[in-house]
Amino acid sequence: ISQPQHPLLTTLNPASATPLPTPATSPTPPPQSAPPVPSILGLDALFNNPVFAGGIGLAGLGAAAAFGRRALISGAALLRRQLLVNIEISKRDPSYNWVLAWLAQPRDNSGFLAQRLTRLRNLSVATSTRSLSPRGIEEAGTGGGKIHADFRVQPGFGRHIVRHAPGVYIAVNREKAGTATTATGEPHETLTLTLLWAHRHVLADVFTQAHALAQSFQQGKTIVYTARKMEWAVLGKPRLKRPLGSVILDEGVKERLVDDVREFLRAQQWYTDRGVPYRRGYLLYGPPGTGKTSFIQALAGELDYNVAMINLSEVGMTDDLLAQLLTQLPEKSILLLEDVDAALVNRRQRDPDGYSGRTVTASGLLNALDGLAAGEDRIAFLTTNHIDRLDPALIRPGRVDMMVRIGEATRYQAAQMWDRYYGDIDKDHSGRERFLRRLDELGLFGGNDQNPDVPKRHTSTAAIQGLFQFNKGDMEGAIKMAEGLIPRTFEP
Ligand code: ADP
Repeated sequence: ISQPQHPLLTTLNPASATPLPTPATSPTPPPQSAPPVPSILGLDALFNNPVFAGGIGLAGLGAAAAFGRRALISGAALLRRQLLVNIEISKRDPSYNWVLAWLAQPRDNSGFLAQRLTRLRNLSVATSTRSLSPRGIEEAGTGGGKIHADFRVQPGFGRHIVRHAPGVYIAVNREKAGTATTATGEPHETLTLTLLWAHRHVLADVFTQAHALAQSFQQGKTIVYTARKMEWAVLGKPRLKRPLGSVILDEGVKERLVDDVREFLRAQQWYTDRGVPYRRGYLLYGPPGTGKTSFIQALAGELDYNVAMINLSEVGMTDDLLAQLLTQLPEKSILLLEDVDAALVNRRQRDPDGYSGRTVTASGLLNALDGLAAGEDRIAFLTTNHIDRLDPALIRPGRVDMMVRIGEATRYQAAQMWDRYYGDIDKDHSGRERFLRRLDELGLFGGNDQNPDVPKRHTSTAAIQGLFQFNKGDMEGAIKMAEGLIPRTFEP
């Protein structure tokens, strides 16, 4: 019995299955591509155009590059902010010159790359000249006599790279800050040090080393500051400390002054407890050439202080300027106000027309002294050749606490100076006795007791020093020329 088979079974039954078509031996014809969709804009044609496609590609690349560049710049800025430290030093800051000097120091740039990279090529020179003034203080400028020039090399304007230690580099940028000028009229400058954040601890070293270097230049030296326009400026370069022993004052005078200053420096607590401004004023008066300025310079050296000097008879010194300068005295400085009598003389001269704008007046001087900055110790020395011209209001505690006359050479001073110059060759002091006798004969110690006809005269320690300098190592010469110590009077 044959049953009709389910159609599905037929497919499963190989016997009854219709043979599968055998793989075609001939290649199948290529599939027919879909008929093209008509494009209204003709974009395809445009994109198929190689010139157009290339342009788009280039534009894309350009945009990507611009974007990349911007990303790089902001990334670099971010990196700089995150990874670098900038320190800006203004020219007004005392460390400016220290760091400049430190940068110019020769350093060991071992390694080819380090040498290539960090040798300073753009240098500038700072030259200062000074000449010996007749007052014995070295002064800047060309005031006659021999002129000394000092050249200091320092990094020029622009960018530099300095190798501080192996692997530690500091980028330095020295630039003029716009059109701003300092009070002395020089262009304002800044110095920027940049280094890796990871190396920031090095900054402390840099400043410590720069400060130590500045101090080593100053070791055993006294800096003299003077007023230049509206601010203090260093006069010449730091000079060797003048030994106190080289200034010969009359017996006991030097000791009295030095003891008083030392006592003042020890008494800060006393002043603080009583709310008294911590300052002390000294007035040295007497004829010129007696060692007033020299003593103050030597005292500053002895105490390890500097000198801040203002000459009140200087052209351009006004009440306002004086007051301003005194409020910003350089630290650790003895204030030296020379020719304080100029203040009063000027007032007298100006009184008729009442004009008082151009020079220092007596009240301007008093106000400036009263306003001497509190906080730090303030030692002020005032000098004058004319005590009689001073305003009595000046001699008041707090303004002038001690007045000392530094007078013409006494016998004691002449003997001391002789010993300093000829002590090593005049062992038995016979030369000294002859010299002093000769000065007596000439009446140079205020007259001659034996001979009343000899005029009462005096000479200055500066004149004696000049005589000894001229006859260095030749005491007979000095005795022979002693007559030259008689002060010359000039008839008009
Ligand atoms: P003053 O300030 O009293 O006018 P200076 O101190 O300027 O006098 O002295 C002028 C010059 O004379 C300086 O070279 C100084 O060395 C010398 N001199 C004057 N007096 C003395 C002194 N007492 N001891 C040592 N040197 C003196």
